[in-house]
Amino acid sequence: MSHDLIILGTGGVGSSALFHAAERGLSVLGLDRFPPAHDRGSSHGETRMIRQSYFENPAYVPLLRASYRLWDELVERTGEALFQRTGVAYFGRPEGGLLSGVQASSETHGIAIESVSADDFETRWPGFAKDDSHEVLFEPDAGYLRVEDCIAAYLREAVRLGAEHRHGETILGWEESGDGVEVRTDRGSYHADRLIVTAGCWASQLLPDLGVPLKLLRKHLHWFEVDESLYGEASGFPCFAHEFGSDCFYGFPSAGAGLKLAEHTGGDEIEDPLEASRELDPTDAERIEHYLARCFPQASRKRIRHEVCFYTNSPDEHYLVDRLPGSERVAFAAGLSGHGFKNASALGHALVDLVTGEKPIADVRFLGMERFG
Ligand SMILES: Cc1cc2nc3c(=O)[nH]c(=O)nc-3n(C[C@H](O)[C@H](O)[C@H](O)COP(=O)(O)OP(=O)(O)OC[C@H]3O[C@@H](n4cnc5c(N)ncnc54)[C@H](O)[C@@H]3O)c2cc1C
Repeated sequence: MSHDLIILGTGGVGSSALFHAAERGLSVLGLDRFPPAHDRGSSHGETRMIRQSYFENPAYVPLLRASYRLWDELVERTGEALFQRTGVAYFGRPEGGLLSGVQASSETHGIAIESVSADDFETRWPGFAKDDSHEVLFEPDAGYLRVEDCIAAYLREAVRLGAEHRHGETILGWEESGDGVEVRTDRGSYHADRLIVTAGCWASQLLPDLGVPLKLLRKHLHWFEVDESLYGEASGFPCFAHEFGSDCFYGFPSAGAGLKLAEHTGGDEIEDPLEASRELDPTDAERIEHYLARCFPQASRKRIRHEVCFYTNSPDEHYLVDRLPGSERVAFAAGLSGHGFKNASALGHALVDLVTGEKPIADVRFLGMERFG
């Protein structure tokens, strides 16, 4: 049997593409090696930050607006608390990339942010250390997504709309033929008119002719035991990001299971995500403990959980979203560079738009292949 569309990889972006294709009435098949919301790739560890005053580049804001709308629709459809608007507090020097970038996106696109005064700061969030070298900006309409639950929800809703989802099946390769695309897996082969590749940290394997180098970085996530009255989401503690020179750390309030901290910068380069060590790394652990002691003085030093996850970085650390050069039938998202989940909802929609020839839900041309010549 042939399908209108096959999606290779049903993690963050692929699960959304499966849903949006099914919602449009396409006969669509999603394939993945692992069961939904697994912990082998880049979409696990409970939470992902979502924010609109995008310090990375204001050009993402229209895509973010579409993503916010689509996440809200998924919440409404499922009745699940997938998107928690805790707000995000940004700490740094005014001239640093974080605060100046937040300010620039906010001004360009009219996104509400607040400058938090020193007096206000202490009464609002007594759990943070006060650092006179830092200024604080707060984005109220921001927060986090429950990453595994979002993927599970998109897959479940897609299947309910008629999509086929097969997991436990490893994709070996694919090729374009005269009348469509042929996909080979360890279980068989499938034919479709069109193809979307959303393979996360395995993108280079399933897009061998991409011609853009993607770098894989191992990242560590740490959870520490804390007093919920100081660091709990219920007490009003927000998501946060701290910039110290060229280093950037971030984290999430506790929802009963610990304060989650991680470093956005740094990370060891790895070759194969399935072979990479998942042990606690002493250098990373020490840097996080230093961050904990410096910025959260009233938190305990007791680590209660640790996980490893992978970034797939493009050369300029911006996403790659496009049709495959020379092909009308194949579109892909790759190199999401450690900041892609918040946009998974709109990226999945935009990929279906690209392969069906419709106007994308948001302008993604700035994320195209052309910038790499
Ligand atoms: C520690 C960490 C923190 C992050 N924090 C944030 C954040 O706060 N906010 C944010 O927006 N983003 C964040 N990100 C980035 C974000 O999580 C990723 O960009 C996004 O989840 C990647 O989605 P994806 O669909 O590209 O990959 P994945 O969700 O990993 O999906 C790829 C899928 O393809 C499948 N696959 C690949 N190859 C094959 C094959 N040969 N056969 C079968 N199946 C295959 C895999 O099994 C997998 O399910 C973070 C990432 C990490 C690692």
